[in-house]
Amino acid sequence: MKIAIYPGSFDPVTSGHLNIIRRAANIFDKLIVCVMVNAGKNPMFTLAERVELIRRVTRDLPNVEVDGSSELLADYAKRRGSCVIVKGLRAGSDFENEFQMALINHKINPELDTMFLTAESQYMYLSSSTVKELGAYGVDLSDFLPKEIIPDFQRKIEQRIQSIQGGKGK
Ligand code: ADP
Repeated sequence: MKIAIYPGSFDPVTSGHLNIIRRAANIFDKLIVCVMVNAGKNPMFTLAERVELIRRVTRDLPNVEVDGSSELLADYAKRRGSCVIVKGLRAGSDFENEFQMALINHKINPELDTMFLTAESQYMYLSSSTVKELGAYGVDLSDFLPKEIIPDFQRKIEQRIQSIQGGKGK
């Protein structure tokens, strides 16, 4: 059974991520979407929330499992019996970084290969951070986020705005 891992921050999962998930799930017997802890990022959603949001939008995909981990990706893949990491490649910016990570992961675990799926043109410039910026200005997000998670996202944005305003009043 060919098991692939699709790792990322998914803060939150976007329509671009979901497109990669659907395509990879068609190629492999099983796809594990793994929300990774990234110490350098200050996430909007907790790890458990991000896992739940991805589970919600992948309910119709029986060969997709959603997990969270703070392990080194190469170790996680070995533990889960996977030898393929799937990554999405957007215009320009992703290449250098992803190429470097693929080489490092292969060095740490020589049985591990990285496969890239090119982003669909309509998602080429979409990232979770762009969505978070647009959300703060009340832009319609229906082209960017799966519709099932838009209310959760809007609630988070409102909480953030309230905590900033509350902080200013003190
Ligand atoms: P970001 O915060 O930049 O959206 P993530 O760490 O959550 O990034 O992304 C996980 C993986 O999904 C990475 O391989 C990234 O290149 C890929 N990815 C992110 N957004 C898109 C998109 N719009 N289309 C295709 N792949 C994407």
